[in-house]
Amino acid sequence: MGLADSGMTPIKRLALIASLSAVLSVTVVPSAARADGIQLSTTVVRQGEAVEVTVSTAEVGRDAVVRFAGKVWPLFSIGSGRLRTYVGTDPFTTAGARRITVESPNGAVLFARTLTVRKVSFPTRRLRFDPDKIALLDPKLLAIERQKVGAALRSLSLDQYWEYPFIVPVKGRRTSPYGVISVYQGKPRGWHRGTDFAAPVGTPVYATNHGIVRLAESLPVSGNAVFIDHGLGIVTSYLHMSALHVRTGQQVRKGTLIGAVGSTGLATGPHLHWALRTNGSLVDPLPWAEDPPGR
Ligand SMILES: [Zn+2]
Repeated sequence: MGLADSGMTPIKRLALIASLSAVLSVTVVPSAARADGIQLSTTVVRQGEAVEVTVSTAEVGRDAVVRFAGKVWPLFSIGSGRLRTYVGTDPFTTAGARRITVESPNGAVLFARTLTVRKVSFPTRRLRFDPDKIALLDPKLLAIERQKVGAALRSLSLDQYWEYPFIVPVKGRRTSPYGVISVYQGKPRGWHRGTDFAAPVGTPVYATNHGIVRLAESLPVSGNAVFIDHGLGIVTSYLHMSALHVRTGQQVRKGTLIGAVGSTGLATGPHLHWALRTNGSLVDPLPWAEDPPGR
């Protein structure tokens, strides 16, 4: 589900696309701003994918930010005089050739490139909930949940704990993928911004990468939920679980047991909703992961 909760394609796979389109993207930048100070892992993404943005402090200073799609994206120090961020797109990101800039704190554009966002035709899924479950869509409950999650994620790690690849959090059949348009009781409720895995109640759920648990508690709509801060603006979440095996503030490693599959909160049956945020933007988590051997 993941109503209240709402890709990185591996860099290697994208290097070719990036190099092929580099010349084109420079020529369509609609201002005189230089493009060569922004390194992008790709210049073409599908809605739901993310792009890695790298700049050097020698060229932009330490306090620069990235602006894309009407939003400011913080840059994090990754050492060796470099700053990095992961800019996410989602079904709300308008498709087309979009300008991405690096700006000084006073808003001066230091560098500009073009990032092309491809529109995705997301499929529709129709769900019917029992009356006791649909009562969870009470705006008051949603507001409580949003406030709790917002508070938990207000202060995140500036250091990078995660490393490629993320792992898939559970052994289970992939049911609703990222982006499907959810229709509840006949009414469209927006895009699904996570991936669902169907599995029996009690199936172990694992941390998909190293990080710090920022929230591990029962939420009205998301049920028993865990949110992990992986650093550099990346947060993963695991919803609707039957049990929680970690606590807020705990450090976890990739593969740490964090909970068990359930159907708590707004769910039609036992499944895990897995989501990945980059700087608050919910992107498709699957491109960040690959199945680890032996699972
Ligand atoms: Zn879901």
